[in-house]
Amino acid sequence: MLRVLSIASEAFPLIKTGGLADVAGALPLALPREGVEMRTLLPGYPSVKAKLEKAEAIHAYPALMGGPARVLAAHAAGLDLFVLDAPHLYDRPGNPYLGPDGRDWPDNAFRFAALARVGADLAKGLAPAYAADVVHAHDWQAALAPVYLHYDGTPRPATVLTIHNMAFQGHYYGDLLGPLGLPAAAMSLDGVEYFSGIGFLKGGIRLADKITTVSPTYAREILTPEFGMALDGLLRSRAADVEGIVNGIDDEVWDPETDPTLARPFSALKLQDRDANRQALQEKFGIAATEAGPLFGVVSRLTSQKGLDLLLACLPGLVARGGQLALLGTGEPALEQGFRDMEGAYPDHVGCIIGYDERLAHLIQAGVDFLVVPSRFEPCGLTQLYALRYGAAPLVARVGGLADTVIDANEAALSAGVATGLQFYPPDIGALDYAISRAFDLNADPAIMRRLRLNGMRADVSWRTPARRYAALYARLRTPA
Ligand code: ADP
Repeated sequence: MLRVLSIASEAFPLIKTGGLADVAGALPLALPREGVEMRTLLPGYPSVKAKLEKAEAIHAYPALMGGPARVLAAHAAGLDLFVLDAPHLYDRPGNPYLGPDGRDWPDNAFRFAALARVGADLAKGLAPAYAADVVHAHDWQAALAPVYLHYDGTPRPATVLTIHNMAFQGHYYGDLLGPLGLPAAAMSLDGVEYFSGIGFLKGGIRLADKITTVSPTYAREILTPEFGMALDGLLRSRAADVEGIVNGIDDEVWDPETDPTLARPFSALKLQDRDANRQALQEKFGIAATEAGPLFGVVSRLTSQKGLDLLLACLPGLVARGGQLALLGTGEPALEQGFRDMEGAYPDHVGCIIGYDERLAHLIQAGVDFLVVPSRFEPCGLTQLYALRYGAAPLVARVGGLADTVIDANEAALSAGVATGLQFYPPDIGALDYAISRAFDLNADPAIMRRLRLNGMRADVSWRTPARRYAALYARLRTPA
């Protein structure tokens, strides 16, 4: 078995704020059948420690970034874990990154440098009878692990850094270099130096053996100034080592045949049973119980990344043509208010629930005709994958993972019978409005809609293919060509 140590700041179902948690929680479960044994190092947040089974202290640090810490070996939710129990860093409830004022914890540099430092130590044999062939670090929070390993010197395991979102990079003042345990040599272009400060993600991109991101299109996009968030130049210099692997989804949690949250379960063979979910959704959102016109859905953070201001602008036209919208989301107050105002103006056609509700997210996927994802950038995106599995046609901007996972219903794809949804580009009001008009045309033809739904439901969106690709990558890294 090839041994990989995954280092992540969140993993579903122990702690989750976004797609990173889904990946860090699901990938380890899919790897054993590919010959890979993955253990995961997580910070010891209260919610993580509360769920541990059989935790055993295997190492004690008298002082780690300002306080004593222990490393626990444990299991939880089917995962083999190391947990960094450092109360001075992690014993804080709620969001893993933000304090009660909604701002980053002021000591986040230390909180996540400690995670990376301990990951590097574990990979090299800190725990009895454990060493890793490959270290897999996720996002800026773990990105110093390849950096520490580089400056520690050889022998060292191979390193992979996965970028889930370029928008989060971990920038800090340069005078933290010594306190973070980095050598003076690291303060250079070839190390962590970033505009005279320290960039965690920057250092990881410079020094990891391999860089992956969560779709092939995003892997290309981040090499450009438009999507690279000021790291595109560095990424271009490493282009030969950048690879995109699309995420999978947990197809047991997301299975329309067995999903206990639905009004009625359904399958490709019993597609007519899906209609009960559409009716339940209309009732839940307080919109008219009509079969006329397409029902559009959204499950999303309400931020400018997600492009929902574009949908807001298109809503009067969508309603005028007889469509409906069911939206579930939270985020920027102006967007929340905008959708509430639309609900007030068009109560039969627009329903919005402002909040985070995992169960309702399932019902939306099971009830809508089109799931709208008009993102300006989208490293992978998960909601369009849930939509495919639940027979909703994704209507998406052609960026990042959305471009890679939805087949546009153009003439060629329709005649070949392979279309699964609609794409538009660029992410602006005109292109979205046109895509919405195409959705009305498709919806008017029941045979085409049925074809779209069945194609989506039969697409493989599981972790099997991505797990195989990660396993191949780890194997290549362990034995370089
Ligand atoms: P991101 O990680 O950028 O937010 P993804 O599409 O990768 O976007 O993942 C979002 C995840 O969060 C999905 O599992 C989606 O169903 C879930 N989600 C987002 N907003 C809500 C909400 N308001 N209620 C329930 N689930 C939500």
